[in-house]
Formats: sequence, C-alpha cells, structure tokens
Amino acid sequence: MLSADFSIMSIKENLEHIHSELKSTPRNITLIAVSKTKPIESIEEAILAGQKVFGENKIKEGIEKFTPIKEKYNLILHHLGPVQSGNSKKLFGIFDYTHGVSSLSSLENLLKESEKYKKLLKYFLQVNLTEEDSKSGFNENELLNLVQNPTHLETDFLKMEGFMTMGPSSGEKKLTKQVFHRLNEIRNSFLPLAKLSMGMSGDYPLAIAEGTDYIRVGSSIFGERNYN
Ligand SMILES: *Cc1c(COP(=O)(O)O)cnc(C)c1O
Repeated sequence: MLSADFSIMSIKENLEHIHSELKSTPRNITLIAVSKTKPIESIEEAILAGQKVFGENKIKEGIEKFTPIKEKYNLILHHLGPVQSGNSKKLFGIFDYTHGVSSLSSLENLLKESEKYKKLLKYFLQVNLTEEDSKSGFNENELLNLVQNPTHLETDFLKMEGFMTMGPSSGEKKLTKQVFHRLNEIRNSFLPLAKLSMGMSGDYPLAIAEGTDYIRVGSSIFGERNYN
C-alpha cells in the first residue's frame, strides 16, 4: 500500500509524500496531522513545513501543547475523541472540531455546553458500522434516525461537520473498503453536504478512494508512538 519507509524520513518529507497523494484526487481533502504523545518540537517541525491542521485525542494534552502556539501560527485544532461529558466544556475556545460525538448523551451534553461557552465548535458524529464492541459510535440505524430528524443537532455555537469512522480493528482491506464505501453512500443519500473523516496511517489511501474529506494521520508523519 505505502511504498515509502516513513521511519527514516523527516516529518517534512512525510508530509510532502502524503500531500502528493492527496493531489492526485480532484476533491479537496484536509490532512489532519495527529500529534498526540508527540513533543512540541515535532509539531513545530510540521508547522515549518507548512502544516496548519493538527489533531490531539486528550483534551488536556491538546490545551497544553497548542495554547501557546495556536494563534501565533494560525492553526486549526481537531479533537479526536471520544468526548467524556465531564470534560467536554474544555473543548470550547481551543479546539475547532471534535470527532468524538459517539452517543446521544454526549451530543446533548455538548449542545448544552455550547450555549454556555459561546465559542464555535464543529463536530463529527462517530459512526461504528462494523458494530465492534471495542469501538464507540452510532450504528447505521441510529445514524439514519438522527440525520432524518435533524432538529436537535445544532446550536448557534455547535455545528455538525459530518461523520467520522474508523476502519475495522482487523485492518482487513476488503472490510475497510466496504465500511468507508458505505459511509460515503449514507452521506451522499441523506446529507450530501456533510463531510467525512475516515482514514488513518494504515488505511488512508482507501479512504481517499472512497470519498473522504478529511484524513487523520499520526504515525506516518511523526513516527511510531510508544503508547496510545
Ligand atoms: C491516533 C488516532 C489517529 C491517527 O492514528 P495513526 O494510525 O497514527 O495514523 C487517527 N484517528 C484517531 C481517532 C486516533 O485516535
């Protein structure tokens, strides 16, 4: 799938490699550089290479690393979730997006918080089409119910950007492709303006082929992580 050996290439070269793959599609796809667990030096290296969009999965870590640099470099920050309700208020004001809205209660909680904090946050509904117990998210029926009754999905400060999913834990290519394909079909049939967030280091070429708008790539840019 990927011919380059990312481990011996610099962050800049890794970014260039992925951007060249994105250029081969006519659509506009946003690369989210997932910097979780990585030091600020690595993030700065990516910024110097022109990267503006970053992702973190822990709210506290994201706040610590990006508060000092976000405005200075005009960065966009994505939270990759899941959103824990006790913590969700901390998303407002520093994160621009969250990809971790995986249940009705987390959505309702964010809707309430957004009225209090009055800072714009956009979100992706996390969808679990393989229905693996290890993954959170709405299954297909729950998702269809939600998007067909869209009355309670937004406030002035909380806007739905689209749907996020992860490939199956097995990494099996055929099933991954099916999952990405199905989410694209659901988007096109029910909410054609919604954006898709699919594809990580191991499977982003499949997500590009199946119509994604965002890819979330960590280790293929910054190298392997020792934890989480
Ligand atoms: C960590 C993470 C990624 C990036 O994973 P890589 O395999 O390192 O590219 C993408 N999406 C989510 C939700 C993550 O937690």
